[in-house]
Amino acid sequence: MENKVALVTGAAGGIGEAVVRVLAERGAIVAALDRDELRLNDVVDRMKAEGLTVRAFAVDVTSSNEVEAVVAQVEEDLGPLDYLVNAAGVLRLSEATVLTDADWALTFAVNTTGVFFVSRAVVNRMVTRCRGAVVTVASNAAGTARVEMSAYAASKAAATMFTKCLGLEVARYGIRCNLVAPGSTDTPMLAAMFQPGGPGPAASIRGNADAYRVGIPLGRLAAPRNVADAVVFLLSDQAAHITMHDLTVDGGAALG
Ligand code: NAD
Repeated sequence: MENKVALVTGAAGGIGEAVVRVLAERGAIVAALDRDELRLNDVVDRMKAEGLTVRAFAVDVTSSNEVEAVVAQVEEDLGPLDYLVNAAGVLRLSEATVLTDADWALTFAVNTTGVFFVSRAVVNRMVTRCRGAVVTVASNAAGTARVEMSAYAASKAAATMFTKCLGLEVARYGIRCNLVAPGSTDTPMLAAMFQPGGPGPAASIRGNADAYRVGIPLGRLAAPRNVADAVVFLLSDQAAHITMHDLTVDGGAALG
């Protein structure tokens, strides 16, 4: 991956940061995108101090204008993009019958429409060069019903099918589009579920982090690096004949 140019959204988050790190360690030049500028700059400064080639770009993926502008800026500054990773995401837990309009709208705006905006802007450029690889970080919840996750799971299922259809359309240009579907992963998103005043997990498991882990046959949460390794594999030439594939990384939680 030496000198390949990569764009990663959600780069200030647990999984996004791990993806940025693995790519940069493999020699890629990485554009790290997030809407949380403070955390993003912190992540990027730490990596730069380690000698990794990473640049921060602030963007809200729910704005198509911002996305178009930032993708153009990334290519101007770093060169033509070889890899895209859609890792920005939000989780709003609520039972469907009391889910608010705002939480539904935000969930789809980030998890589904954001994936569309960023993928359209990047892949539109990749097709002119007939090369590129995309990985969208969806979720095992896209295919497995979960309590209090109706909006999240539906938004991830939509992002999953969008990414597969995109992969079908651009396969003729040699561009591959895959998915990684993590299960519970040890990141700020998961931690927020257990914080006082946080959204809180389902009533049956509220306040009991151990109960939440019972359904993981491998017996532990994923580390962000476990998910990042799968993402980078799918971007790499080792996955040269893999496209439109959804790779579950959940310790067996979805039971296959
Ligand atoms: P995280 O909350 O640590 O990181 C998500 C990042 O996305 C944050 O830095 C946030 O600022 C950014 N973001 C949110 N809205 C944005 C917007 N509008 N524009 C730009 N950036 C925005 O979460 P994470 O656990 O690292 O999640 C990464 C991805 O993995 C998400 O798509 C998430 O849905 C998915 N996922 C996570 C888990 C888990 O258990 N942690 C499980 C399955 C899937």
